[in-house]
Amino acid sequence: MNEQDIEIPCPVCSQSGKVKMISHIDEIPYFGEHTQVTLLCDSCGWRQTDFIPAEGKKAGAWSMVIDAEEKLTARVVRSSSCTVSLPELDIQVNPGSNATGYVSNVEGVMQRFLDVIRMIERDLVAEVDALEDNERATATEHMATLQNMKLAIGQLGEPKANPLTIVLLDPHGHSMILHPDATERDLTDEELAALPVGPDPAVFSTDDVEPSA
Ligand SMILES: [Zn+2]
Repeated sequence: MNEQDIEIPCPVCSQSGKVKMISHIDEIPYFGEHTQVTLLCDSCGWRQTDFIPAEGKKAGAWSMVIDAEEKLTARVVRSSSCTVSLPELDIQVNPGSNATGYVSNVEGVMQRFLDVIRMIERDLVAEVDALEDNERATATEHMATLQNMKLAIGQLGEPKANPLTIVLLDPHGHSMILHPDATERDLTDEELAALPVGPDPAVFSTDDVEPSA
């Protein structure tokens, strides 16, 4: 475990001299040896975790069809530069300004999708009364779509559920689905051009952050 102060202002509260970087080498089965790096701000509590594999990784896409309950337990390493999508539902979560890496399983990733959907739902409900009639019809349609997304995700793993595909797109190649049925491919040039690469201003803006040991 290595701890050091970082000479950048906190991206959230802008205070200088409060951001620390903690890093340690860790081993995740199949993902291999990597450095786990966490930035945290003593002032406002902001934190961001990322995973830097020891071996260089190239930009890549991982995908797996979730068609069995067992696949919900597959481990997922999602770095802060990774976009996660469910193409069948036409929903994706981009690495926003506050993106943080995490190690979870497929079920945990679905939970995060549900959180996002509920948040959009709450926003819709909050504004629906102020809408004109024609806008309200559209909002009602959106609500129905969100409802269907929640159902589809909630039924995953059940024998009669429609399978969904989980896709990770990571320009930095630091993300992975750890399951024998998961497949990896290169990102296309179009994807590379279109994908956001993650938090900004980034200590992780380059691929080779080398925390001093
Ligand atoms: Zn802060």
